[in-house]
Amino acid sequence: SRALPEAAVTTRTTCGYCAVGCSLDVVAEDGRVLAVLPGRDGPVNRGAACVKGRFAHGYLRADDRLTEPLLRRDGRLEPVSWAQAIDHVARGLNAAIAAGGPDSIAAISSARATNEENYLIQKFMRTVIGTNNIDNCSRLCHAPSAAGLTASFGLAGGTDSFDDIERADCLLVVGANPVEAHPVVGARLLQRALNGATLVVADPRAVGLAGYADIHLRPRPGTNVALCHGIAHVLLDEGLVDEEFLRERAAGLAELTETVKRYPPPVAAEVTGVPEADLVAAARSYGRARCPAIFYGLGVTEHLHGTDGVRSLANLAILRGAVGTSRGLGVFPLRGQNNVQGASDMGALPDSLPGYRKVAEPEARALAESVWGVPVPDRAGLRIPQMFDAARAGRLRALWIIGEDVCSTDPDSNRVAAALDACPLVIAQELFPSATTGHADVVLPAASWLEKDGTFVNFDRRFQRVRAAARPPGRARTDFEIVHALAAALGADLGCPTPAAALDECARTSPHFTGLSHERLDREGALPWPCPPPGGDARGKLYTDRFATPDGRAHLAAAPYLPPGEQPDDEYPLLLITGRRLEHYNSGSMTRRTDDLRLAPTDHLDVHPDDAARHRLADGRPVTVESRRGRARLTVRIGTQTEPGQLFCAIHFPDSNVNALTSDHADTATSCPEYKVTAVRISPG
Ligand code: SF4
Repeated sequence: SRALPEAAVTTRTTCGYCAVGCSLDVVAEDGRVLAVLPGRDGPVNRGAACVKGRFAHGYLRADDRLTEPLLRRDGRLEPVSWAQAIDHVARGLNAAIAAGGPDSIAAISSARATNEENYLIQKFMRTVIGTNNIDNCSRLCHAPSAAGLTASFGLAGGTDSFDDIERADCLLVVGANPVEAHPVVGARLLQRALNGATLVVADPRAVGLAGYADIHLRPRPGTNVALCHGIAHVLLDEGLVDEEFLRERAAGLAELTETVKRYPPPVAAEVTGVPEADLVAAARSYGRARCPAIFYGLGVTEHLHGTDGVRSLANLAILRGAVGTSRGLGVFPLRGQNNVQGASDMGALPDSLPGYRKVAEPEARALAESVWGVPVPDRAGLRIPQMFDAARAGRLRALWIIGEDVCSTDPDSNRVAAALDACPLVIAQELFPSATTGHADVVLPAASWLEKDGTFVNFDRRFQRVRAAARPPGRARTDFEIVHALAAALGADLGCPTPAAALDECARTSPHFTGLSHERLDREGALPWPCPPPGGDARGKLYTDRFATPDGRAHLAAAPYLPPGEQPDDEYPLLLITGRRLEHYNSGSMTRRTDDLRLAPTDHLDVHPDDAARHRLADGRPVTVESRRGRARLTVRIGTQTEPGQLFCAIHFPDSNVNALTSDHADTATSCPEYKVTAVRISPG
């Protein structure tokens, strides 16, 4: 190991990649990061970290980092001062309001930003602009979790604390690849399985955990609801349910029983493609466990019926009385981005104020108005896909995009680009030039997670501190500073001059956050929401007395299985699944600019040997993938990780153009895109 200079300073912060929320010790000298070490006493990671958290910081000083504001003039982005950029944006927003009213402006906030920044951005949109047109990228991943878990249990988060994982004796992991996407959680799940817990993996692909699973179910993509109903059928049929819990604490049993009658194991097996015996064995493992736990990922949510998928998983925990009791660890959504939970918790949503209090409810608005001192609009705003629709229809006059390369990451990317081109003012706040900045009128250089202060919320609802270890380069600023500057240019004062003051204020807008503060987090390390009083139980297990639904009961959901929006056919006979790989993160803007992660410099298309033979594809050779919407080019990797008829590629390489393929089919409840099911055809070259 290299000796570190004496002047080096170590700063404890929270990883800004995935939502596991590992504590990291960042060693820096003169504002430049030298090394990142896992925090030995990190509440979640306990001394572990993955390749991204440890090594993916080289991007901070990448040559193409945005370091000064840019303004488009005669079709070219040119450097300008901050004063000129902010003045241009302020005049553009005023003009939009004058021409189309506040609802002609929208903002996409960011899971990459801190809670305090998300809080400030949604406050800006609601109180300075006067619109609820604010959303965040959870729309593209875990919006069905928020909707589904709220409907089933009352709150929009996981039900238990990962600290209790050693108690679990059956792990049901559905539609998730934690070994690559949430490596520290993946390692602890694996450890738990090696120490005796039964591991059931339900995923179409042979993901990392599947090799260690007692049972690996490979349902056809888009059939999770049928799979869960089949398992529920076995639980009910074989009496593997907690009758007292169902009687005392649940609702909806009669309706669910009627629904699952239609999914006996042979039928569920037929719909899902899972062997009947495996389905029954999985149901018995979950049904007979002393303390079962469910983990799920985007393989559940990113579907036409993603919210139904979440709820049908929640059904299993309710049937077993394994939620809100010591007899189970409920349901954990494995959230992808560092602060995707927090962005929504803070109210960066078109229908919700901080703490998921609905804008349509007068009491919720009254509480926010009492803190903010101005009226809050009562009509729900636009979701991200609706923002693009409004732009294409000429109804959106300004779109502010913070930390998202929507032209690469949103589905049907050609249509997204057309939406931005149709919008008179597009403001992109970013670290690097991207496909999206290529369509922006103003580009504002932002700070990364290693250069700012605040907090993130991880996948099991823990607030943890984020602390600046490095200085933003050039004239880049934090999102917090940019929002304040923009408010001032519009003649408004948002209050809360510091991130600590913003969290203090946020804590007054929702009972969930009462008691949270930077000062307390600095002292206690991590705190869940709802926040316990000082000295209270900080493990974050929910619903031990009652569920947070209006009647205090857990609600079983009886929605039937419905097929995905797109099915393979003669013209597009294969099914493409997209997802994550270990070495990279989302659009790859940070990890692809880090030398240490050049291990995986390009993407490939995973193809089963049968399909490779049928379509004359050779390993390592180029392949063209086409859907009804667009075309992508990748390199073939032949293997059995995917089933015949299914393909897989990652989301980290915008140059591959993968989201030109994906469709605008979306979860009927939340508009979350159906990224996991795209009908395609392939050809060599
Ligand atoms: Fe960061 Fe997630 Fe890796 Fe932990 S597991 S170091 S939070 S990317």
